[in-house]
Amino acid sequence: MQDCLFCKIINKEISSDIVYEDDALMCFLDIHPVNPGHVLVVPKSHFANLEDLPDEYNSKLLSSIKKMILIIKQDLGYEAVNLLLNNGTAAGQMIPHVHFHVIPRKTGDGYKHWHGQDYEDGQAAEIAGKIKRAINNE
Ligand code: ZN
Repeated sequence: MQDCLFCKIINKEISSDIVYEDDALMCFLDIHPVNPGHVLVVPKSHFANLEDLPDEYNSKLLSSIKKMILIIKQDLGYEAVNLLLNNGTAAGQMIPHVHFHVIPRKTGDGYKHWHGQDYEDGQAAEIAGKIKRAINNE
C-alpha cells in the first residue's frame, strides 16, 4: 500500500533496524521501544487487521514471534515478554498494517497492564453464549 509506513520499511524505501526477514515476514525494532529490543513482527503484504490476514501466514507468524521471544530472553537478557496486538483504531493501532509487538520485560521495569473489570450479573453467560453461537454458525 502506497502510503503505509510499514510497506515503505518492507520495500526498503525507509530505513529501519531489520533483525529478521523471510519470504512472508519482517521483524524490525520499534522506534519508540517500551524497553530496548522491542520488536515488531509484520507480514510483508499489506493487511490492516489480523482477521484480514490469510491463514497461510499463521504458522510463519507464530514461529517468528517465538524466535524473537527466545532471542530476547536468551541473548538480550530479559526475563519475560509481552506479546501485543493493537487490532483496530479503537484498540490503539496507529499504523493500519498488522503488527505484533514483542516487548522485552524485566521485573520492576515500570510497564503497567490495564486493570480488568467485573461482569454484571448474567453478562458473562450472555456474552459467552453469543460467542459460542457465532462459532457454531460458522
Ligand atoms: Zn502496509
